[in-house]
Amino acid sequence: MPSSIKRGRALLPCTLCILFIFLFLLGQRPAQTGDALPYGLLLAALVLGMLLAAGREKRREHDLARMGGPVPMAQIPQVRFCDVAANEEAMSSMQDLVDFIRRPEAFAGMGARIPRGVLLHGLPGTGKTLMARALAGEAGVPFFAVNGADFVEMYVGVGASRIRSLFAKARKAGRAVIFIDEIDAIGKKRDNRSDEREQTLNALLSEMSGFHQHQGVVVLAATNRIDTLDEALLRAGRFDRQIEVPLPGLRERELILSVHARTRPMDSTVDLASVAAQTPLFSGARLEGLLNEAAILAVKRGSSSISRQDIDTAMDTLLFGQERSPLQRQEERHLTAAHEAAHALATAILLPESSIRKVSIIPTGRGAAGYSMATPPEKLFHRKQELLGHIAVALIGREAEMLILGSDNVTNGAANDIEKAAMLAQRMVCEWGMLPGSEEPYLFSQPQKDAAAQRWLQLGQQLAAGLLTSHRPQWEQLTRLLLEKEVLGESDVLACLGAAPESPAC
Ligand code: ADP
Ligand code: MG
Ligand code: ZN
Repeated sequence: MPSSIKRGRALLPCTLCILFIFLFLLGQRPAQTGDALPYGLLLAALVLGMLLAAGREKRREHDLARMGGPVPMAQIPQVRFCDVAANEEAMSSMQDLVDFIRRPEAFAGMGARIPRGVLLHGLPGTGKTLMARALAGEAGVPFFAVNGADFVEMYVGVGASRIRSLFAKARKAGRAVIFIDEIDAIGKKRDNRSDEREQTLNALLSEMSGFHQHQGVVVLAATNRIDTLDEALLRAGRFDRQIEVPLPGLRERELILSVHARTRPMDSTVDLASVAAQTPLFSGARLEGLLNEAAILAVKRGSSSISRQDIDTAMDTLLFGQERSPLQRQEERHLTAAHEAAHALATAILLPESSIRKVSIIPTGRGAAGYSMATPPEKLFHRKQELLGHIAVALIGREAEMLILGSDNVTNGAANDIEKAAMLAQRMVCEWGMLPGSEEPYLFSQPQKDAAAQRWLQLGQQLAAGLLTSHRPQWEQLTRLLLEKEVLGESDVLACLGAAPESPAC
C-alpha cells in the first residue's frame, strides 16, 4: 500500500517534466501552419496527467484515512472479573482501577494521583488481554483496543494519527478503557527504531501526558517482553504502574480450570485439583486449550460429558511434539526448587530482619525460572556482617547447583545472583571502605580494590556453602515442599527451619 501512495505523489512532477521537455523541443522547430495540433495534444496530455495525479492523491488520502481511521468500534465487553482466575495481587490492582474509572472525582478530590498508564506484563497466554477486557466489562465502560503489531510497516504519520484518533474517541466516550496490546511492537528500545515507530511512540507519550486526572479513562498496555521496552514508556506519568501477570500456580490453575469447566460438562471421574497438579508451567491459555481438546474428544466419543480419560488423552496430544520433554522439565523444576529453597533458607538464617514475601518456582515474564522475594527492614545503616550475609544469600543459589550437579555441570541460572553479589562487594570496598578482616579502610589502587571485592565474594561463597552443609535436611525438605506447592510464604520457610528433620509439617 505505501508504494502506491508514493507513486501517486511522484506522478505529478513527472508529467510536468515530460511536458516541459516536449514544449522545449517544439520551440526549437521553425513555426509552421498546423502546429496548433501538437499544442492541442499537449494541452490534453497536461490536463490528463493532472487529473491522473489528482486521482492518485485522492486515493492516497483515502488510504491514509482508512489506515488512520478504523479505531475499532468500542463496546462494553461481556467479560467480568469472575471469568478471570488470576493471582490476588494482580486482581486487587485491577479492582483499584475499576474504582478509578467509576469515581475519578473522589480520587481527585482527595488529591490522590491516578496512574496514567498501567502495564500488564507476563508470558503469553497468562490472561493479560482477558484482564484488560474484564476491567472494561467490570467498570461498565467501552473498550478501545489496538494492537502494537498493527502499527508495524505503516506509512510515516499514520500510526501517530491513529493513536490520536484512538484517544480522541475514548475521551469523547467519557469513561473508557484504552488498551494497547503488544505494546513492545511500538515501544522497543531506541536502537534502530524507524521513523514511523518513533512518531507513533511520541504520539502515544504526548497523548498520555495530555490526560487529565479526573477523566475516568484508564490506559492499559500489555507486553510479553517488558525488558525490551523503551525506558521513556515506563517513566513517571506514563506506564508508571506495572502489574506482573505470572504463570498460574497450583491453586490458580485449579481456579482457571473451573472457570472454563463452567461451560463444559464434566463427569464424576474428573477432579480439577488433580488436573491442576499435573499441569505445572501451563498458562491459562494452555489450560483452556486442554479442556477444549478434551471436549472435542468427548464429542467424538459420542459422550455428553468430559471424562478424566479425555483430559489425559488431550494432555498427551498437547505435550506431544513440545521442544522441552517432560523429563527435562522435571529436572529443571527440581533444580529451580533447590536453588530458590537455598535462597529462602539463607535469607531466613542470615538476614533475620528481612521478611520473606514469597518463594516461587513459577517462571516469570522476565525470564527467571523462579524467584524468592524478601522485604528488607527499614533502616539506614547496614553492618559489614549483614552485607556479607546479602552476598551469601545471592551466591547460595549457585552453591546449591554445585552440590546437586557438581561444579562441571552448573547452569546459567545464577546470572543475576552473581551480578548482584559482585556489585555489592564492589560498593562495600569502593563506596563504604569496608575491607574483609582489615583495619585500614582506604584503598586507592584499582588492583587492591578488586582483590578486596574478590575476597568478599569468596567469604560469601564459603558462608553459603557452609550453610547448605549444616542445614542440608531442612534445605531438602524445603525443596520438596516447594516442588509440591510451587509458591511458599515466610511461615512455610520458618516452619521448615524450626521443624525437626522428619516433621510432617514440612
Ligand atoms: P495473553 O494476553 O496474556 O497472551 P490471553 O488473555 O489472550 O493471554 O489469554 C488467552 C485465553 O486463555 C483467554 O481468553 C482465556 O480463555 C484463557 N486464560 C488465560 N489466562 C486466564 C485466566 N487467568 N483465567 C481464565 N482464563 C484465562
Ligand atoms: Mg494478549
Ligand atoms: Zn538465584
